[in-house]
Amino acid sequence: MNNPTRPHDGTAALSASPFPAGARVAVIGAGVVGSAIALRLAAEGYRISLIDPRPPGSECSFGNAGQIMPYAVAPIALPGALGRLPGWLADPLAPFAIRWSYLPQLAPWLARFIAASVPERVEPISLALAALCAQALPSLDSLLTMAGADDLLVRRGLLYLFESEAAWQNASSEIELMRRHGVRFEALEPDSLRQVEPALGPGVTRSLLMPDNGHLLDPQALVARLAAAMVTRGGEIVMDEVHDVILGPDGPRAVLTDQGERPCDAVVLAAGARARGLAARLGADVPLDTERGYHVMLAAPGIDLRMPFVSGDGGLHATPMAHGLRLAGTVELGGLEAPPNPARADRLLEVGRRLLPGLCEAGATRWMGFRPSMPDSLPVIGLSPTVPRTALAFGHGHLGMTLSAVTAHLVADLVTGRPPMVDPTPYGPGRFA
Ligand SMILES: Cc1cc2nc3c(=O)[nH]c(=O)nc-3n(C[C@H](O)[C@H](O)[C@H](O)COP(=O)(O)OP(=O)(O)OC[C@H]3O[C@@H](n4cnc5c(N)ncnc54)[C@H](O)[C@@H]3O)c2cc1C
Repeated sequence: MNNPTRPHDGTAALSASPFPAGARVAVIGAGVVGSAIALRLAAEGYRISLIDPRPPGSECSFGNAGQIMPYAVAPIALPGALGRLPGWLADPLAPFAIRWSYLPQLAPWLARFIAASVPERVEPISLALAALCAQALPSLDSLLTMAGADDLLVRRGLLYLFESEAAWQNASSEIELMRRHGVRFEALEPDSLRQVEPALGPGVTRSLLMPDNGHLLDPQALVARLAAAMVTRGGEIVMDEVHDVILGPDGPRAVLTDQGERPCDAVVLAAGARARGLAARLGADVPLDTERGYHVMLAAPGIDLRMPFVSGDGGLHATPMAHGLRLAGTVELGGLEAPPNPARADRLLEVGRRLLPGLCEAGATRWMGFRPSMPDSLPVIGLSPTVPRTALAFGHGHLGMTLSAVTAHLVADLVTGRPPMVDPTPYGPGRFA
């Protein structure tokens, strides 16, 4: 990295100064998080450059399950995580798996993940997730309206399905957290389930209906519309890769990209799973890693799924989308460099076949993407602890589509100096110091 000026060692009060009105803001990363922030800040009167070498929504925001899941108030690391570790290492095709070859690099992240799974940590983490989840749909509604994208969100609810008693037992602490945090859900008897979703086979023994969840018909189209709406508000899309941020005494002066220097007055880092290096440069040494996930897209699935579902047994999220049925999910801790394991995508298809008799696989396409994941399951959202006029927003793990709009709202509050819509403390970039 080029090293023009050392980070300003200003006080927390100085670094927490809002962005000046009308400032030129470089938003690094045009995934759903960066694009949502770019649109919000453009609407606040900032002059936005949304910078990404790829078109908006090309990375993790492209291939996800598109489920809007305010029910997801439970962290990924739950009590019992340590005991499950051997199982995660044993089966490379399990819904949650660790690649042996990546274990040495993963160890510090994994240690924090396990540490976050104890009941004393789970409770406050869940509270912090619930605070964001409670605002997820209202914020998304308002952002979709700004982007002229209301047609992309369907609010028909979501099913949580269980085939085995073991999976049901495994989900007990998650369901207990949902109950405690006021998530609305109801248990369906098998007959009612079949009426709600006739495409399901007979293997499901228990199910929950979550009426307050939604799904996106095309996640990438959503990101493209957010970015386009930002452009109509005077912003620009710049297809560069950012290599560094050049800092002066008042904060960022320019971003250094593969095409040269681009002047700016403020920066928002939203580079998803690849944000770690730039985050360190911007004063936040964070243990960001990736949970790799897969999808299989079936353009003509041969069945009509009415609403999305999650399989408690197979880690599968199935979503009816504009261009077919998407079977997505699972976690593979394997870093950013290793090639995809197509057998993991095939495993999703197997679970889909089991749950949806009649599924037609012709023309299936496969994809792998990198969730930006923090070991405590909480995103990083906040002003840099040391660099003025700098905000960070990444690490949304399994919930980036769900939480992008509320993140953008919170970032807009923080950079304009308004009272924040939720207490930002639990998501602070400095929390790992
Ligand atoms: C299989 C799967 C299923 C999922 N299902 C759901 C779901 O149903 N609901 C849900 O809420 N979430 C879901 N997620 C999670 C969600 O997709 C992510 O949390 C979200 O997409 C992250 O968005 P992002 O903008 O932070 O990252 P990304 O979409 O990855 O965007 C980051 C962008 O930053 C750019 N970038 C990186 N480095 C630089 C640089 N140096 N300079 C410029 N640009 C840079 C990248 O090119 C990329 O475009 C799922 C994820 C997976 C993998």
